[in-house]
Amino acid sequence: MIPSWLQPNYQQLQQLGATGQLHHGLLLLGKEGVGSFDLAYQLTLDLLCMSNGTQACGVCKACTLNKSQTNPDFMLVSAEKDSISVEQVRAISDFFVSTASFQGNKVVIVKDAHALTLSASNALLKTLEEPNANRYLVLLSDPNTPLPATILSRCFKITLTVDANQAKQFISDLGIDVTQPWVNAFLHRPLCLKQWQEDGQLSAVESLYQLSQQQTLQSCHKQLLELFNQNTDYIDIFAQFCAQKLQTELLSNTLDVKRYQEKNQALLSFAHKFKEVKGLNLSLQLNQLLKQLSYL
Ligand SMILES: [Zn+2]
Repeated sequence: MIPSWLQPNYQQLQQLGATGQLHHGLLLLGKEGVGSFDLAYQLTLDLLCMSNGTQACGVCKACTLNKSQTNPDFMLVSAEKDSISVEQVRAISDFFVSTASFQGNKVVIVKDAHALTLSASNALLKTLEEPNANRYLVLLSDPNTPLPATILSRCFKITLTVDANQAKQFISDLGIDVTQPWVNAFLHRPLCLKQWQEDGQLSAVESLYQLSQQQTLQSCHKQLLELFNQNTDYIDIFAQFCAQKLQTELLSNTLDVKRYQEKNQALLSFAHKFKEVKGLNLSLQLNQLLKQLSYL
């Protein structure tokens, strides 16, 4: 289902489709939790449907296969071990060249397009430059991770954002109290909260917020390590809470610019190291981070 804040984007895509102007290469730029995939997938359903309407009918053969995720005219590509390889891109071009089983359209959604390796990006250019008729490539990418200019210039770009009021309404409809201070950090990606709720992780997120607000962060080492070992996604969430706290301190002049930059840098480097360095001693790195964040 497409969240309310993406309805205008969906209508734009529907209109382009109805007038035969839908670009064969679409790039949806949106943070995780905005709903990029939901939008891309609804568009896919519409494109694969065999009825002539602008929206998927839900009952034709193609729609039925989509429901059981077995439509042979759809392919989903996502990062394997943090990157999308040239082999994965070659599989896309093979998929596009082969005949469609139904109405004629074939669709590929590439999640995490920012994870394309350089050679994979180059291989993808050919698909974008010499499009086959009735083939649609939908790239989903984080807006803050730049894609090669050659890819950008060959796609129709849509940046997806969330209206804060709609986000609040959505979160409130989930039964989550929107006045809790940590909720604010996720108004720009509300679907994350829905996911955490479904996965029973909301209380862990709240704990991360409470811990980030402690003056003596070093005493939180054990609790944080336990949480990070439960789920490594919590590292980014904790880093986001800390970054927000630093910003507030900077704006209220309780932290000078130099200290702010040092602490922020420590946070960025911690999150980066965690993603890039294999066999990292998390306990030691966390200890260092908490020390850097705590000093005045
Ligand atoms: Zn249908």
